[in-house]
Amino acid sequence: MQHLGVLKESERRRLVALAPAGVKRLSAQLRVSVQRGAGRAAGYSDEAYAQAGATLVEHRDEILRGCDLVLGHDSHYRGEDVGGPKTFIGFLNVLNDRDVVDHYRRPGITLHSLDLIPRTTLAQAMDVLSSVASISGYQAVLLAAERSLATVPMITSAGGTLRPARFLIMGAGVAGLQAIATARRLGAIVRAYDVRSASRTEVESLGATFIEVEGAVEDRKAGGYAVEQTPEHLERIRQVIHAEASQADVIITTAKIPGRKAPLLITEDMVRGMKPGAVVVDLAAATGGNCALTEPDSTVMYDEVTILGPTAIECGCAHSTSFLLSNNYTTFIEHLLKNAENPADEILKATRVVENGEVVNARYLGN
Ligand code: NAD
Repeated sequence: MQHLGVLKESERRRLVALAPAGVKRLSAQLRVSVQRGAGRAAGYSDEAYAQAGATLVEHRDEILRGCDLVLGHDSHYRGEDVGGPKTFIGFLNVLNDRDVVDHYRRPGITLHSLDLIPRTTLAQAMDVLSSVASISGYQAVLLAAERSLATVPMITSAGGTLRPARFLIMGAGVAGLQAIATARRLGAIVRAYDVRSASRTEVESLGATFIEVEGAVEDRKAGGYAVEQTPEHLERIRQVIHAEASQADVIITTAKIPGRKAPLLITEDMVRGMKPGAVVVDLAAATGGNCALTEPDSTVMYDEVTILGPTAIECGCAHSTSFLLSNNYTTFIEHLLKNAENPADEILKATRVVENGEVVNARYLGN
């Protein structure tokens, strides 16, 4: 029976890649070891892992050396000599953090990074990217509401009536749609924009207004993702958004292009025109930011406007995020065990970055 090891994430992350329920699900097919304390910050105790059938292991090195499959959401392996063959599974953001892959270029080492999961129906239950994005969109609204000087819903009270807040959401993919839904539930008036025309129906079905900017470039071959826009179109978006921004109490930006720098959508000039007390939450901070003033993981005050660029906002509700990740990773590992010998398997091919020390991934290599 193969041996799976679950590593403790960095303190900052607070997440765990496998919850006790995942241990239970996998233990018919695998021996599972979990690094002691791995789930503590996410609300999963060592006792719960032991009850689910895991062996608790004191040190990270024991997992790295002793297991055939090593699971850690973030990067944990730094190229140490750990023997082989060994398969690492995680979410390493390899298209944006390309150098991380170098650690895995060692004989016997294979790496699957789930940020490369294909956006297909079969792979949906393994889509870590969507889980992280959903939680990020939700958390961004709560963060903005907490930092805003105004309330979100309309409130009628003895002191008068407070009008509902106006939210502007840029990018209506997984994170943006969850942000729209959360802001609507809180009672905000929401307007949203995306370069993909298909997102209009989704935006409207959530009760938000879609902002029209004609002339976006779309490419069916991009697998449902946005493609880079021409400088002219980006300028057109900024012109339309300028007026929208001045009305907004909160702007949440989520616009990304896989493997590219995030598009600049909110300029300094736009922020200057925003209301005092308004908040910008930039979820693209890790890839350059959608707002010109964003500084990753810092609070920037520009006059009376607050600009936040959290790069790991999904860690804020670590228990829930870990629950979703655990289901995604469990499904992926089950798929890996079942299809390991099939070289044509689309999901394994798409996520395999390194095989026996060689970089083999077409998207990573740019083929
Ligand atoms: P993402 O995180 O790469 O980008 C976020 C959003 O930003 C996208 O909607 C994108 O169109 C938008 N964007 C990019 N440039 C922009 C610009 N200049 N201005 C405004 N918006 C801009 O995307 P994502 O949330 O991962 O979703 C990408 C696609 O994949 C969507 O079509 C989504 O519905 C689809 N998806 C499919 C599955 C599945 O079928 N299993 C799962 C998840 C997502």
